[in-house]
Amino acid sequence: MKQAIIDTALKFDADIVGFAPAQRFDKDDAIFKIMPNAKTVIGLGFRVLRGEYRGVEEGTTYYQYTTMGVENLEETVMPLALLRISTLIEENGFEAIPQRRNQLIMNEENETNPEVDYNDIYRGVQAENQIDFDKCAVLCGLGEKGLSGAILNDDYGPFIRYSFIITNAVIEPTPVYEPHLCDKCGECIKACPGGAIDKNGKMNTWRCAVYYNGANGAKNPFMPPDAFSGFDNRLDIINGTAEFDNDEAKEILDNIYFYPPAKHYYRTSICGRACDRACYIHLEEKGALKKGFKKKFRNGEDWKLDTKQFVTGKREKEWKFSNRT
Ligand code: SF4
Ligand code: SF4
Repeated sequence: MKQAIIDTALKFDADIVGFAPAQRFDKDDAIFKIMPNAKTVIGLGFRVLRGEYRGVEEGTTYYQYTTMGVENLEETVMPLALLRISTLIEENGFEAIPQRRNQLIMNEENETNPEVDYNDIYRGVQAENQIDFDKCAVLCGLGEKGLSGAILNDDYGPFIRYSFIITNAVIEPTPVYEPHLCDKCGECIKACPGGAIDKNGKMNTWRCAVYYNGANGAKNPFMPPDAFSGFDNRLDIINGTAEFDNDEAKEILDNIYFYPPAKHYYRTSICGRACDRACYIHLEEKGALKKGFKKKFRNGEDWKLDTKQFVTGKREKEWKFSNRT
């Protein structure tokens, strides 16, 4: 059955497949709350095409990464693969529980998910058991956890998303990665336009939400010159250096939507996952990625917009590439 699962996964657009035996998980892990007799977690990795980052990398189109790299992978591609593989497992007499990341329900009280509107999230929902996706990816041998928290894979670096199937079928395991990709270079930390990742790699999810949604004026071509006009610290917000608590983060987010969300409930990523792009560029530079391209992902310096317009409060000329510094 293992080979049939791999073949089906690849046929339905997964790029990598791994298998974690239940023994790799602690006894109180959510997989056993969801399926008490779980024997294996199957991990599926789906690459986010490098070209889907091109628009955010160049600052030319923002819709494509979110709709094709996030929304359609999560809402269309992954469910189909999960359902086909789960059906195959059930045809063989075992039970299979597909696990898609739940974007809107959180066990945590004080966190958020930058990919969706903070208002849509139900927090502190303890009754809903959820697997730890990053932990499952590591235990399924799909990649290693980098300093930023991103799962890094030999072929795709951080440009990959995951989903899982819990089953009571015993399946031969995949070895776990010996960490070898993340060298703690800190490029992911430096690249965030809002300083959302601290020097130890801890992510402030509210800070991430604010800058994922585009609060940094140097990296947001949609921001009007008078953005955040009611905020005393508007230039600090726009420069990515403002200090704020969770409630203030909500106020900023309420004033940040200069660009529409994607079709389901996903917010459009204006930061363009700069942390992951910086990591990819670093891994590519040092020749650590097995899947090569004819040209490097980034050639030359990263761009940023002139932020003078936010000081004067009026746009002196229409934004165009020449506004980049
Ligand atoms: S950018 Fe450097 S420190 Fe950050 S996750 Fe990648 S390799 Fe690790
Ligand atoms: S670069 Fe974007 S996704 Fe990464 S931590 Fe910063 S705001 Fe969040």
